[in-house]
Amino acid sequence: MSEQQVVHCPSCERDVSGIVHARYDNPNAHYLGPYEESYHRYAFVSCPECKHPFLTVETGHPLGSCFTNPGVLYPPRGEVVSPCVPEAIRACFYEAQQCYQNYHYRAASVLCRAVLELTAKEKGVTQGNLEKKIDKLRELNLLNDDLHLWAHQIRFFGNRAAHDLDPGTDHTDAKDALDLVKAILDYVYSLRDKFERFKQNRESKPHS
Ligand SMILES: [Zn+2]
Repeated sequence: MSEQQVVHCPSCERDVSGIVHARYDNPNAHYLGPYEESYHRYAFVSCPECKHPFLTVETGHPLGSCFTNPGVLYPPRGEVVSPCVPEAIRACFYEAQQCYQNYHYRAASVLCRAVLELTAKEKGVTQGNLEKKIDKLRELNLLNDDLHLWAHQIRFFGNRAAHDLDPGTDHTDAKDALDLVKAILDYVYSLRDKFERFKQNRESKPHS
C-alpha cells in the first residue's frame, strides 16, 4: 500500500488521506521555518477523492521526530484581495488566510477581527470598542446593511476565539470569517469607489 499523508485538500476543502507519490527532504533552512535549524520535508501528493495533485511541506528539527502538519505549497490557495486595500490590512488578511490553511482556525478568526479593527482605524474610526466602530462605519455609509451585520458576526467569531476557554472554532467558522472579511474589504476599498464613479459618470451624461 502506498504511503499516505493527512492533508487539507484545497479542491475538496477538507482533510483527506493523500497518496504520497514522491518525497524530497531538504536539510537547508530557507523556507517557512521560524528557527534557523528548521528542516523541510516535501511531498508530491494526490487527493484520493478528487485526484487533485499538490505539493506539501512539513517543517521540523533535523534531530527531532516532530513535524508540523503538512501545508500545501502548490497550487496556491486562498483569495487575493484588491491592491486598493492598504498594505498593512492586506498583510493581516493574508496572515489570517495562512493560519486557516495551516489548521490554526482560532488564530485565523482572531486575525479576521483584527482586519476589521485595522479597517476602522484606517478610515479614522477610533472611538469606542469594535462594536461601536462597526456601527460608526455603517453610519458613515462605509458598510451597507448586510456587511454591517457580517462585520458583527466576524467580531463575534473573533471575540469567542480570543476569550473563550473552549471557543469551538472549527474550519467552517474560520472560513466564514475569512469570506466575510474579504467581502468587506472588497466593498470598502474597491466596489464602493467603483459604484460612486459609475454613479457620477451616469449623472454627468445627458439623459437619453
Ligand atoms: Zn480532493
